[in-house]
Amino acid sequence: MIKSNVFETVNKGRIKLLKYKKLSDLFFVNHAISTRCGGVSVIKGLESLNLGTHTADSEDNVCENYRRFCNAAGFDIEKLVLGNQTHSTNVRVVTEDDWGKGVMRERDYTDVDALITNLVKTPLVIHTADCVPVGFIDKNGGAIGNAHCGWRGTYGELASKTLHAMENEFGVRPENIVCTIGPCICMECYEVSRELYDDFEIKFGKSEALCSKDGKYYIDLSLINRHILVKNGVLPENIILSDLCTCCNHDFLFSHRGQGPERGIFASVLELTSAI
Ligand SMILES: [Zn+2]
Repeated sequence: MIKSNVFETVNKGRIKLLKYKKLSDLFFVNHAISTRCGGVSVIKGLESLNLGTHTADSEDNVCENYRRFCNAAGFDIEKLVLGNQTHSTNVRVVTEDDWGKGVMRERDYTDVDALITNLVKTPLVIHTADCVPVGFIDKNGGAIGNAHCGWRGTYGELASKTLHAMENEFGVRPENIVCTIGPCICMECYEVSRELYDDFEIKFGKSEALCSKDGKYYIDLSLINRHILVKNGVLPENIILSDLCTCCNHDFLFSHRGQGPERGIFASVLELTSAI
């Protein structure tokens, strides 16, 4: 069993979902984070709810996993929209034309690591397995966003680009946005090279997000993303920070560092359910 003050675990048959407790007040959004439980994948490392389309899994298995996940979470699989994650800092404005792209239909775009939309019933999917999923919700219900921030996306400040895209496209001010920083690798599990540590220190300054001890270097990507959000106008009290490490909990959530490269992928999904 997972212990968390931030998430509740929702059981739907064999599927277990994570939900942010604090988002339960926002009646106009539906969201869910998948776990490893309740899927059909059997290959070691992918068992069992692998939602990665570019893994050793068969397409049929991944599709069945999406079906089960969507049924449990209340998303319409026909309208699910995936990015095309390549550690870029590109943001895509999702329209009706994108409905179903990534699972039900081919994608006609590449290098998309963040998605934003003002459409209702349009679930935006971000995949991770240690990287940081960052969610964006306009408190007035006008728009949402979802971003994949690994170290490259974090260093490239994709979270800030997503905020700016929501403001430019939909007129949503950062101070009206609630942000979620989802399950990702914790600082103790994320040892990095001296070079990467130095790059982060030069760009973001010394802070509690960077730590060096015994000749080893560590970065807390979730805290760097929080710093980026606050610097760009998101109110600290509107940021929900995960307390779950993927690597420490790799039996429950897929983790690249915890399992190695032969691992599945989990999804953080967010949709507007109704216009206010
Ligand atoms: Zn950890």
